[in-house]
Amino acid sequence: GSGSWSVWQRVENILKPLELTDDDYRKVVQLMLEKMKEGLARASNDKATIKMFPTYVRAVPDGTESGDFLALDLGGTNFRVLLINLRGQEVKMESKIFLIPQHIMLGTGVQLFDHIADCIFRFIKEHNLMGKKLPLGFTFSFPCRQHGLAHATLTTWTKGFKCEGVEGHDIVALLHEAVARRGDLDVECLAVINDTVGALMSCAHSDRQCAIGIILGTGSNACYIEELKNVEMAEGNEPGPPEMLINTEWGAFGDDGCLDFITTEFDRQVDKHSINAGRQRYEKFISGMYMGEIVRLALEKLRKNGLLFSGEGSYHMATRGRFYTKYVSEIEGDDVDSFKTTKQIFEELEIINVSEQDCRLARHVCSLVSRRAAFLSSAGVACLLQKMKRKDVTVGVDGSLYRFHPFFHDLMMEKIRVLAPGVRFKLMLSHDGSGKGAALVAAVANRIR
Ligand code: ADP
Repeated sequence: GSGSWSVWQRVENILKPLELTDDDYRKVVQLMLEKMKEGLARASNDKATIKMFPTYVRAVPDGTESGDFLALDLGGTNFRVLLINLRGQEVKMESKIFLIPQHIMLGTGVQLFDHIADCIFRFIKEHNLMGKKLPLGFTFSFPCRQHGLAHATLTTWTKGFKCEGVEGHDIVALLHEAVARRGDLDVECLAVINDTVGALMSCAHSDRQCAIGIILGTGSNACYIEELKNVEMAEGNEPGPPEMLINTEWGAFGDDGCLDFITTEFDRQVDKHSINAGRQRYEKFISGMYMGEIVRLALEKLRKNGLLFSGEGSYHMATRGRFYTKYVSEIEGDDVDSFKTTKQIFEELEIINVSEQDCRLARHVCSLVSRRAAFLSSAGVACLLQKMKRKDVTVGVDGSLYRFHPFFHDLMMEKIRVLAPGVRFKLMLSHDGSGKGAALVAAVANRIR
């Protein structure tokens, strides 16, 4: 009857802003192209939102890299030390996760790097590598302005780290000083990379067409191969191939307000209550740290309007950050005949009397938010594909959102085809990019020097 028609209308009105058109996505691609141009140029880099940091990584691996390498991985969910043996396509890897205690995450830089040197020492001892000279690659996934392959100045801590005396300093110097203080370690850091470069390098090792690396995890970022002549911000002119990997730091796209035309009231609330309000606006549409919260806010709005759960809420559903992004994957992957998992999730969140209709609507909200995230990251990939003008490109992808969401890959394939017509591309899951990538860059650096 007309009653249910108007209910549907009210639901539509609340959710409509989450649905973007292909023209919206095309506009996002064009805007990103402009902002990336600003970041690359010396004259405008200062005020650019997308920083387009030169990485000083000049070559992708050619598959002949060999030897034993150490790698460090800091900036993801865990700190790891890895030993990697490269021999052609054969990669052997051993790794150990070390905890970084809270008091060190919030302590001084000296304490942090002494702890890291100590972890390296313990790892080397356990693996009977004492006295062996080992080149090291450091995957340090925080925004850094690099001045060379092995020179990286931290611009700002993120992700729960806040060690005094590191921002504005060269993290390789800090590492080497700590290694010297520790003694008995013959370790030289040859390269600093971030996780996007790791994803690109590790995929390029088996697929020579790989020219883009992206992260869809806690945050979102991308790197790609740029022609050296366009990399105005790079210092020095080391010999090497006429190209360089650029760490875009695309998460900050939109920080000048240029994405306001796609921003919903839910996005505004997520941003307002984050620890970095006004910053990383593109990342906040897309990544694992925020997607669940966007869904929760939309569900709460429907519920408060009496359109979901008969209007009955719960303490949990009213709690910021309590609706995890993994629920979005689980609900969308659920069997729509039983909604078994969906009902379990809402039971856990202490919502009572969840109807079939509620499950259907909740699933619809999840899919709107994840489609928008997948399509916006597709716009980013399409932008890089348009920039690079190559015919065949493989994109290395890492991160739990891409890995575990049931449709993210398919949605991205669909939308990149629309936004970058005529380009042949593949999306390839990166395995252990942070470790393998760091070792490969160290190996290339070792060969070139
Ligand atoms: P990091 O980016 O810190 O290196 P991950 O790639 O594991 O680590 O990403 C962690 C993020 O992935 C978290 O924000 C989490 O919400 C999200 N996540 C974890 N599991 C899933 C899942 N099953 N589906 C979607 N997102 C997930």
